[in-house]
Amino acid sequence: MANPSLLILAGDGIGPEVMAEVKKIIGWMGDRRGIRFDVSEDLVGGCAYDAHGTPLTDATMAKAQEVDAVLLGAVGGPKYDKLDFSVKPERGLLRLRKEMDLFSNLRPAQCFDALADFSSLKRDVVAGLDIVIVRELTSGVYFGEPRGIFKEGNERVGINTQRYTESEIARVARSAFELARKRRNKVCSMEKANVMESGILWREVVQEVHDRDYPDVELSHMYADNGAMQLVRWPKQFDVIVTDNLFGDLLSDCAAMLTGSLGMLPSASLGAPMANGRPKALYEPVHGSAPDIAGQGKANPIACILSFAMALRYSFDLGEEATRVEKAVEKVLADGVRTADLMGPEGGTPVSTAQMGDAIVAALDASL
Ligand code: NAD
Repeated sequence: MANPSLLILAGDGIGPEVMAEVKKIIGWMGDRRGIRFDVSEDLVGGCAYDAHGTPLTDATMAKAQEVDAVLLGAVGGPKYDKLDFSVKPERGLLRLRKEMDLFSNLRPAQCFDALADFSSLKRDVVAGLDIVIVRELTSGVYFGEPRGIFKEGNERVGINTQRYTESEIARVARSAFELARKRRNKVCSMEKANVMESGILWREVVQEVHDRDYPDVELSHMYADNGAMQLVRWPKQFDVIVTDNLFGDLLSDCAAMLTGSLGMLPSASLGAPMANGRPKALYEPVHGSAPDIAGQGKANPIACILSFAMALRYSFDLGEEATRVEKAVEKVLADGVRTADLMGPEGGTPVSTAQMGDAIVAALDASL
């Protein structure tokens, strides 16, 4: 059987630096576990603009459509800030998300014990936290028509439209239920059914999909404003949260803060299943290209490494290997290995990006 295929788009700024550490883990999987990937690499973002005058070529787009998973570093940087909107680095990423129709955005918020004091919340609220927010990514108020700023009598009016079809709600609900089955089997759906018709439909469709196809998964519903409060009050009550594009945007950023550092947060964006049954998938750290530290060996590679772990679990059905990588990260942190962004007030000497990657590989070795 052919090896699973992976397209690496390291991008700009710290993207290539953190991706170099992921490549060590990919190499380790081949050498020590006999799990090999057909890896290809290409350009996205500012570096693609420099080479081709576009942040994503048609050829790269076509490659992304063919592979089992895409792993992206980060795009953007001050050098490209003045470019026309149509060729800005971010357009490359948006094109990937749109043309691959990645409607389900998974944002885990996992708090490693060793970092619990980095959160702005109390240790007992966040230590051991492990939840995932599933955000609908391709519809809702960011896309609905009509939209724009119009003249109405003597004043302007700004309009955006929250719009969801049943099928859009059903497919992201399914994605959340499938995910829950691989975790603690609990889904909480969040909307504002008390004041929004789209929320009423959202609640009804999620319930229908549940009753028809996922009765084994525990389902609850919550108004999104209460959800925000509960996330800060006692986040461990949740396993998987499924919500729309707008509420998901806010709730996932809120949940991100529970875990401490931007350098720790992975994400996955999933689309419809391909012919081989695997979902179309793009994995990337939540952080950007961090131009303030790029080229200095200071970047924390863990968000990108954990994004690869998500690929192992959700694209390649290698949940055990994903757990192995996550445990290696946990061990390294517990041993006190820290990049600069993870240094507490007590100080110490931070390790470099490459040293953090090497420490994780050493922890993987020790796991065998
Ligand atoms: P950013 O995430 O790049 O950086 C914010 C802060 O967090 C910076 O101080 C940075 O040094 C720090 N940081 C981020 N990742 C880190 C890591 N792995 N290790 C240690 N520290 C880390 O956000 P920004 O500064 O607002 O944006 C910089 C550029 O990145 C912009 O061009 C922006 O458009 C782009 N961006 C890209 C993405 C993406 O590729 N998905 C996401 C956000 C921002």
